[in-house]
Amino acid sequence: MQYLPVFLDLKTGPVLLVGAGELVRAKLRVLLAAGARIRWFATDGNVDLAGLRDDHGQIQCVDGDPLSTDLAGVIAVLCAGAGDIGVAMSARARAVGLPVNVMDDLTHSSFIFPAIVDRGDVVVAIGTGGTSPVVARRVRERIEALLPARIGELASFIGEFRKTINPVIAEMPLRRRFWERIVDGPIGTLVLAGRKAEAEAALHGIGDPTAYAGADQAGRSEGHVTLVGAGPGDPDLLTIKALRALQDADVVYYDELVTPEILDRIRRDASRVPVGRRVGKPGIGQDAVNKLLIDAAREGKRAVRLKGGDCFVFGRGGEEVDALRKAGVSYAIVPGITAGLGAAAQFEVPLTFRSKALRITFLTAHKERDAEAVDWSVLTDTKMTVVVYMGMTAAPAVRAGLLAAGRSPQTPVGVFAKVTRADAQAAVGTLDQLPDLVARIDGGPAILIIGDVVAHSAPWRQQNLSRVIAQLLEPA
Ligand code: SAH
Repeated sequence: MQYLPVFLDLKTGPVLLVGAGELVRAKLRVLLAAGARIRWFATDGNVDLAGLRDDHGQIQCVDGDPLSTDLAGVIAVLCAGAGDIGVAMSARARAVGLPVNVMDDLTHSSFIFPAIVDRGDVVVAIGTGGTSPVVARRVRERIEALLPARIGELASFIGEFRKTINPVIAEMPLRRRFWERIVDGPIGTLVLAGRKAEAEAALHGIGDPTAYAGADQAGRSEGHVTLVGAGPGDPDLLTIKALRALQDADVVYYDELVTPEILDRIRRDASRVPVGRRVGKPGIGQDAVNKLLIDAAREGKRAVRLKGGDCFVFGRGGEEVDALRKAGVSYAIVPGITAGLGAAAQFEVPLTFRSKALRITFLTAHKERDAEAVDWSVLTDTKMTVVVYMGMTAAPAVRAGLLAAGRSPQTPVGVFAKVTRADAQAAVGTLDQLPDLVARIDGGPAILIIGDVVAHSAPWRQQNLSRVIAQLLEPA
C-alpha cells in the first residue's frame, strides 16, 4: 500500500486551488460535492462558474499571486499541471506541512485523488498508487455494478437510529450483531427497496433490541464456531461464504497452510491466533484447538477455524465437529477448494476423463508408516486417478506400493507444489521417477497425482513439446 486512503472533512477550512482548464473544473466539482470551501486562483483569469452548481457560494475567486498568498487556516493545496507554478506551490505547501496535490504529477504530490463511487453516505475510494487511472476506473465500474443502488440510504437509515439504539445494547459485540441483523434481514431489504417508512415501523416494532441481537437470558450473545476451508492459497478462491465468515469473526484460529493474503481478508479488529505447526515448532495439538474453539463460543464469540483447502479433506474437521457437538456449541461448515482440485485446475489435470479415468482416490501418506498402512492392492485399477496428500517424504514408499500393486512404472505422475500461489511449481514424469520428481521441487506443500490423466496436463504437454523441439534441433 503506497498511500493510506482516508476521508477528509473539507468543511473545516478552505482548500486552495490553483489553475484553470477542464481538469481543474473537474476537481472543483468533486470538491463542491464534498462540501468544501474553495479559494480558487484561476490562473487564466476565467472564473466562469457556469455548470458548477455552486449553490451555497462555496467558491471564492481570488486574484493575485498564489505563491505569496497567506496559507494560514488552509487545509490542503491543489494545483493544476506540473509547470513552474505546481512545483513552487508544492514546495510552499510542504514547507508548512500542508497536504498538496499537483495534478498528474506524483513527485510533487503528497496526496492523490482516488476513483470514487459516491452513494451518499457510502463512498468507495479506489486507488492504484497513481499507477493506472484506467485500472481504477475498471474497478470502480465493477463496484458500481455490485452495490445496491440504495446502499447509501441504508447507511443513513442506520446512522439515524444508532444514537437511540446503541446505548440500549451494552455489549459491543451484541451491538454489532444487532446491526448486522438489520442490514442482512428484512429491515435492510425494505430500505434497499425504497420502503423506508415500513422499515422504520418494523424497527420500532422490534421490542427488545438485545434479544433481537440474539442474546441469552444473561444478556450475553450466543457464541458460534464456523469451520472454514480457505482453499489452497489464492485468496480469490475463497468462497463468498468464507469471506463473510472472516468478515464477521471475533477471533480466527488458523493453520500454517493459510497464506498471508488470505489472513488479509479477516476483519481488521478480529484477533488472529495461529494454532498450526510453525517453522519447526509443533502445533498446540488437536485437544487444545478443540478447547479453544469451545471456550471462545462459550464466551459468546464468533470463532472461525480457518484451514488450508477443505476442512473435511485431511483437515481434522471431523474431530473438531465431534468435540463441538459434544460440548453443545453451535457450528457451521464452509467448504473450501481442496489442494488436489486446486492443482488439477491450475495445471490442467482432468481428474476424470471419459473412458480413461473413472474413479478418484484421495489418500494421505504422511510418513513411511502411513504409506505402509495404505492398502495399495485397491489402487491397481488403471482407470483410477490417485491423489496423494502429504506424500513428499513418503514418495519412495508410494512408488513401491503402487508398483507392487501392479501399476506400470510408466504411469504418468505429477508433483504439484504451492498450488494456486505465486510460487507454484510442477514436475511431471513417470511413476518410477517419482522420488526424483519430488527432489526437483523447492519445498512443499505439494500434492502427488498419479494416473494416465497426468499426460493431459499442461506441464506434460510442455515437456513433450520441448523434447520434440530438442530432437528436431539435434544434428542428424
Ligand atoms: N485440508 C487440506 C489438506 C491438509 S493436509 C486440503 O483440503 O487441501 C496438508 C497437505 O495438503 C500437504 O502436505 C499437501 O499435500 C496438500 N496441500 C495443501 N495445500 C497445498 C498447496 N497449496 N499446494 C500443494 N499441496 C497442498
